[in-house]
Amino acid sequence: MTHLLVVEDEPNLRQLLVTNLTFEGYSVEAVDDGLKGLIAHRTKRADLIVLDLMLPHMDGFQVIQELRKTKDHVPVIMLTARGSESDRVHGLSLGADDYLVKPFSVLEFIARIKAILRRTHPQTMPTVLQSGAYRFDLTAMTASRDNRPLDLTPREFRLLEILITHAGHTHSRSELLDQAWGADARPTPRTVDVHIANLRKKLGDDGEKNLIATVGGEGYRWTVLVEPVH
Ligand code: CA
Repeated sequence: MTHLLVVEDEPNLRQLLVTNLTFEGYSVEAVDDGLKGLIAHRTKRADLIVLDLMLPHMDGFQVIQELRKTKDHVPVIMLTARGSESDRVHGLSLGADDYLVKPFSVLEFIARIKAILRRTHPQTMPTVLQSGAYRFDLTAMTASRDNRPLDLTPREFRLLEILITHAGHTHSRSELLDQAWGADARPTPRTVDVHIANLRKKLGDDGEKNLIATVGGEGYRWTVLVEPVH
């Protein structure tokens, strides 16, 4: 079971993250300061650390420094305050893998965690998926149809990834906005429709195939069975 460590001193946010990560099926430990975080990680090694930067006793920067100094390359996603661009840059230069700016949506948070785990633990999640004539490489972010590559933008690929990794599930436009655009940008739900239309065109998804179904006023759903390629 993938084990995650959350280091966050705001009790409400910490609880929210723990609840959602547990719901996603991860084993989760949570602590409220940097030193406790290091100790927890050394006691039970985490597969990924969610690390707030502003923490009592030992801040997030010191935690990353300490980890990397001891050649511990556990993936770290930093939680940073809005507007602290220099914190982000500093954290990434110390060796953090990714960051989220507060306040962030839980959906985006989960999506980022999964993306990092996919990159760093490729054996735990299939990264090449097949669905009918289509093949998707989630690590390389490429898609092909009958072995012919499809020319997708990163945003289109991200939308596609959300749909195929939850085939059969209907995603509302606001869910797709959260997960594919994130909290920083706020395009309108209409933007989702436009991107889906382009995606359908590129997939050759004419009315007959109906790969991406429009579900009433609710949203979109991938309709074809998706299987991992070994
Ligand atoms: Ca804090």
